[in-house]
Amino acid sequence: MFVATPLQQQIADQRRDRIRVLVVGAGVAGLALAQALRAGGLHPVLVERAPDHADQGYMLALMPLVDPVLRELGVMDAYREHGTRFHRYVLHGRHGQVLREYSIDTLLSSYGEYRGIARGELMQVLASRGAPVSYATTLRALAQTTEVAHATLRSGNDMFEAEFDAVVLADGLHSAGRALLLSGQQVSFYDSGWGGWVAWMGSDVAHADRGDEVWGADFFLGIYPAQGRAGVFLGDQRDTASRDAAAFVKHVRTQLRGNDAWIEHALAAVERDPNPYYWKFIDCRSARWVVGRAALVGDAAAGFLPTAGVGAGMAMESAGVLARRLLAADRSSVAAALQDYECVQRPRVESAQDNSRTLAKLMFRSGRGLAWLRDVIARFVTLKSALGPIIRLLDDLPE
Ligand SMILES: Cc1cc2nc3c(=O)[nH]c(=O)nc-3n(C[C@H](O)[C@H](O)[C@H](O)COP(=O)(O)OP(=O)(O)OC[C@H]3O[C@@H](n4cnc5c(N)ncnc54)[C@H](O)[C@@H]3O)c2cc1C
Repeated sequence: MFVATPLQQQIADQRRDRIRVLVVGAGVAGLALAQALRAGGLHPVLVERAPDHADQGYMLALMPLVDPVLRELGVMDAYREHGTRFHRYVLHGRHGQVLREYSIDTLLSSYGEYRGIARGELMQVLASRGAPVSYATTLRALAQTTEVAHATLRSGNDMFEAEFDAVVLADGLHSAGRALLLSGQQVSFYDSGWGGWVAWMGSDVAHADRGDEVWGADFFLGIYPAQGRAGVFLGDQRDTASRDAAAFVKHVRTQLRGNDAWIEHALAAVERDPNPYYWKFIDCRSARWVVGRAALVGDAAAGFLPTAGVGAGMAMESAGVLARRLLAADRSSVAAALQDYECVQRPRVESAQDNSRTLAKLMFRSGRGLAWLRDVIARFVTLKSALGPIIRLLDDLPE
């Protein structure tokens, strides 16, 4: 349960903490981090730009990488209750024809479960033990000495100055906090040239445990299960698309054969949505995650393309790794604890990011000849080989 809390109240509540932590951004990473610190007895100040957590958001598929932090938060049962287990993945070719069905259990069950959940529900699960947040609050300036970090925060119309021992920037892919920490040259962006509309559709028993992807000649359609519904992405090449979702749906229909009712259901959901969210498939990578007493986590550190379904998973894993280090630190060892976090986690996250970029080069390509060749090759590619680097991360968890 989220508890909207005045910023002064949060600052006062952490006065006696061994280390005083500010977390900027109450998204997947920031909330997981704040809750893990709270479970360890600290009172981090958690601030969020949005006015509340009412938005249900999009659908997330989560790898078992999230299990350790969920267990530490004591919310595994709530996660199971609100998430839907993914058992199957069905790959369709350029005309919608089924190329291959993969068993996700065969690949992942020895590591844990692969679950689909609406982002809004995940946020409620993470907050289920109580999560104070100061809404409509942003970080405006950050200055550091070796002893302390000075933050200037704006909450509503009021400005506040406060001192912290650690500041964590978890404000997402377009992080404003990152710009206070790193120069432009220290942040690089990878643009796949594609983007996609995001919508929700109703689900049914036959499809409740399966994800579908259609890799078309100039489109990509993904349908992923959440509880009682499914999330839909319809991707296109950004520079050629008209930006009109309904017109693009009509174009996709001309390429399909065989009348697959589930695919049509997904296309109709995008077509029906009066204002579907359009997600540009761009990621980012920060050359450094830590400067003194400040650190980046989640998409602010390394954002993800939607190809491997692992951005939120890595963000939550990183939050867990960072929380463990901060919980073991005192005021004098915070900077070293943050360095250790970067040392452990950055190579892991960048390897998952490389995997998702490689898949993007395969999935987000236009051309009929290429799509035909991809249909032929895809029949022989195992899920294990496509997600090899991520499976290796599961084989070798950070602690
Ligand atoms: C449509 C879509 C589908 C996705 N599907 C998957 C998937 O299936 N599986 C998966 O693992 N990942 C998926 N991802 C990626 C995943 O959502 C991100 O990797 C993950 O949310 C990153 O977490 P984060 O906390 O870093 O950022 P976010 O979850 O984006 O949270 C950032 C938070 O910071 C807040 N904020 C922003 N600016 C400020 C500011 N200046 N001050 C204060 N607060 C601020 C935002 O309001 C937000 O609450 C998907 C992403 C999208 C967009």
